[in-house]
Amino acid sequence: MAKVTFLGAVGAVTGSKYLIEAGGKRLLVDCGLFQGGKELRQKNWDRLPIDPASIDWIVLTHAHIDHTGYLPRIVRDGFRGPIYANAATHDLCQLLLSDSAHLQEEDAQYANKKKYSSHQPALPLYTVQDAQQALKFFQEIPRKDPFTISPQFTVKPSDAGHILGSSSLQITITENGKSATVVFSGDVGRYNQTILNDPEPIAKADYILCESTYGDRDHPTTPPDEAIATIVNRVAKRGGAIVIPSFAVGRTQTLMYILRQLEDQPRIPKVPTFVDSPMAANVTDLYVRHREDHRLSFLQEEQKDGGDPLDVHEVHMTRTVEESKKINDVKTPCVIMSASGMCTGGRILHHLTQRLPDARNAIIFPGYQADGTLGRYLLSGGKDAHIYGQHIPVRAEIQEVSQFSAHGDRTELVRWLSGFTAPPKQLFLTHGEPPAAQAFSGTVQQKLGWHVTVPAQGDSFDPFA
Ligand SMILES: [Zn+2]
Repeated sequence: MAKVTFLGAVGAVTGSKYLIEAGGKRLLVDCGLFQGGKELRQKNWDRLPIDPASIDWIVLTHAHIDHTGYLPRIVRDGFRGPIYANAATHDLCQLLLSDSAHLQEEDAQYANKKKYSSHQPALPLYTVQDAQQALKFFQEIPRKDPFTISPQFTVKPSDAGHILGSSSLQITITENGKSATVVFSGDVGRYNQTILNDPEPIAKADYILCESTYGDRDHPTTPPDEAIATIVNRVAKRGGAIVIPSFAVGRTQTLMYILRQLEDQPRIPKVPTFVDSPMAANVTDLYVRHREDHRLSFLQEEQKDGGDPLDVHEVHMTRTVEESKKINDVKTPCVIMSASGMCTGGRILHHLTQRLPDARNAIIFPGYQADGTLGRYLLSGGKDAHIYGQHIPVRAEIQEVSQFSAHGDRTELVRWLSGFTAPPKQLFLTHGEPPAAQAFSGTVQQKLGWHVTVPAQGDSFDPFA
């Protein structure tokens, strides 16, 4: 009997893993890492309820680590099938999976050096070598055209407008001459964005699995450039630094694009910007290579201007640890972008240790901060940050600018769902913390009159029912 099982991203915004079984074959949709508080991260060490070697294929919605970061581990544990992803997702995964592995190794080393871990020795979940091994199993699939995996499974991707390569997947499951379609939303992006396309509507589904990260709220209506200009001017005037937790690829380019425009207009002073990451690179090439994923106007401006629209006037890519440490010596106004985006590890922790105690500085959060993370603690007004076993007083200004979120808000999610021409038999809400998923369930029932379920870990359903 065919079955779809929720193996992650239920009751939380990370760890996306959905297993489809039909005709004796197994397809895993996404293979994400649990990210967030300690309890959640610990789940990455639990064995999967099924043998990784018994999974035939994996298909990815997009490259973010909460959808792909478990790949190195699942390959290490025995998975040997193809990992299907489009070209942009493949490109991004080469950066993201290596970075994730690097982070696991660096944090384990640091924990051992400082002896603050309860595990002796602290071990990485996987290594850079494991990530390289997993990348060998990638096979590219078309950006938009249907792709047949096997007699049981056909995948039709559409642009989700969330990051380069991001897709919603309409999967047709066939068994004993019957077919059913299940749509996996992936992460749904925003409408009228600075760089990326709008999320594409999908016409038909028997069942839909939809994310609900921001299901209980709408993003502020202040335009992102205005929000960022206000903060930059205020902080520069008082001589402070701005720290932005963000991965080197994706939102960092949206931020740079807007900062660059604000400098040119000029609505803000030119301030040196540091992209501090072992993965930092000029990623404009990536955007040029995947033109179908973003708006044409962005490229026209690139040509007209002659410069790189994805860089501010004074940008420093700091890759080595020594270069990273030197940023501490910058005492004049500057912008520092570094990962991880939820402050659960990585170089951002060193910058926060340096910058949090000074009231002239500001920390700007452009992305979702999951429950149990340092990011959430700071956003909720915490004044005593625990970083690497130290107590760090929080005096810096803390700001959320969720206009920069790559996720659609409540209204945008309803808009995307409204694109279906008929109600599904059931909508499952995943990838949301319980209050967001529950609130959005009420919204959808009220606005669309659909049957909605918020599933629990391990729940499953029959797509032919
Ligand atoms: Zn995502």
